[in-house]
Amino acid sequence: MNAYVEKVIEEVKEKYRDQKEFVQTVEEVLSSVSCVLDRHPEYEEAGILERMVEPERMFSFRVVWTDDAGRPHTNVGYRCQFNGAIGPYKGGLRFQKNVNESIMKFLAFEQTYKNALTGLPIGGGKGGSDFDPAGKSEGEIMRFCQSYMTALYRYIGPDQDVPAGDIGVSGKEIGYLFGQYRRLRGDYQNGVLTGKGLSYGGSLIRPEATGYGAIYYLNEVLKDHNDTLQGKKIGVSGYGNVAWGIIKKAAELGAKVTYMSGPDGYIHDEEGIVTAEKIDFITKMRRDDPLHCKPYAERFGCAFVANEKFWGVKDVDIYMPAAIQNDVTLKEAEKILASGVKYYIEVANMPTTNEALQLLRNSDIIVAPSKAVNAGGVGVSALEMSQNSQRLSWSEEEVDELLKLMMKNIYKDSKKAAQEYGLGYDLVAGANIAGFKKVAQAMYEQGIF
Ligand code: GLU
Repeated sequence: MNAYVEKVIEEVKEKYRDQKEFVQTVEEVLSSVSCVLDRHPEYEEAGILERMVEPERMFSFRVVWTDDAGRPHTNVGYRCQFNGAIGPYKGGLRFQKNVNESIMKFLAFEQTYKNALTGLPIGGGKGGSDFDPAGKSEGEIMRFCQSYMTALYRYIGPDQDVPAGDIGVSGKEIGYLFGQYRRLRGDYQNGVLTGKGLSYGGSLIRPEATGYGAIYYLNEVLKDHNDTLQGKKIGVSGYGNVAWGIIKKAAELGAKVTYMSGPDGYIHDEEGIVTAEKIDFITKMRRDDPLHCKPYAERFGCAFVANEKFWGVKDVDIYMPAAIQNDVTLKEAEKILASGVKYYIEVANMPTTNEALQLLRNSDIIVAPSKAVNAGGVGVSALEMSQNSQRLSWSEEEVDELLKLMMKNIYKDSKKAAQEYGLGYDLVAGANIAGFKKVAQAMYEQGIF
């Protein structure tokens, strides 16, 4: 490995040893771009890597809200504005019990390179809170969002930082957040958030974009291997917003999701989750209770296996981890290898531990990295920003066409970047290299700060 890259990784490991997820993503990205640093000694002279691993700005704030009985509760809110070299900070908000500084930094770091890959002018950021939306009433969620925005509104804006959704933040929360922003600012700037409702500046296809984009990317991989989506069986972990888009688009294009999992275990639907009735049921199930997918098995009379993950089953063609970080560890990766499945397409942010990813990449399995596969979500967010600034809205067909093209280009650029550096067909390294090069060059040209 390039000595400069090695040095910076060691420094991060030492300095941020308590931030496990952040160290993990830094190691993964920087080790992939070692070859770029070999060719660009000027980046070392300009200290690009040391600057890249430190957020431009990160802050936390107190968020106080009252429950339905009038009792006050205190949570911590975060926003990490990691890198603004190529555009305003852009990235979602995650509301989940386990959110902490390390998780915010890992997500914002990943986001930086993912956003660069979209080819659109968006920098990397992420935010959230350790607020747990599970079991909260509508009123409680609204008051939490209002309080969160009251703390954040001075530091975001259409040209500054543009939050969106992530786990625990969907269109409903974005609505409350936007309402409060408008109320505090006293003017109408809907470009400050993306993932908005269609009635106040949201984009068609945005709710589906991450999942649709993942299937479009998968389609590019398959085409390149003289293969097709037709008749393919897919195992998807998770049943949130992203999995929903995957399930819908897969069904539309002749494939079917036959395994799906939640925190309580997994379901196996041999016939596939292909009908509108099944897909709508999942949406409702998630809204009512984000912690259990068992009701699906009860409703449609299929198998449910409690407290297990399905990694290792042989009767699928494609695995798509679409739930949460570090879903697949070495133990699961070994099962995946033994299953003989041909494609491992990451969707959730960093769903694979570094050692598990290494094992899969060294095998015959075709591995695609989430920062490329899931980039369609934030890509369509950038299209939403364009529509807002032009004060118009594009049709479903227009947005879908742009999304398809974006995914095609991300695949092509990643593949080409790996080839350019003599790495062969390596979509993981290629995505890191393509994203990194764009950000590094922008930082280099803008001078030292
Ligand atoms: N949270 C999503 C992601 O991980 C979307 C971010 C956005 O649309 O800004 O990319």
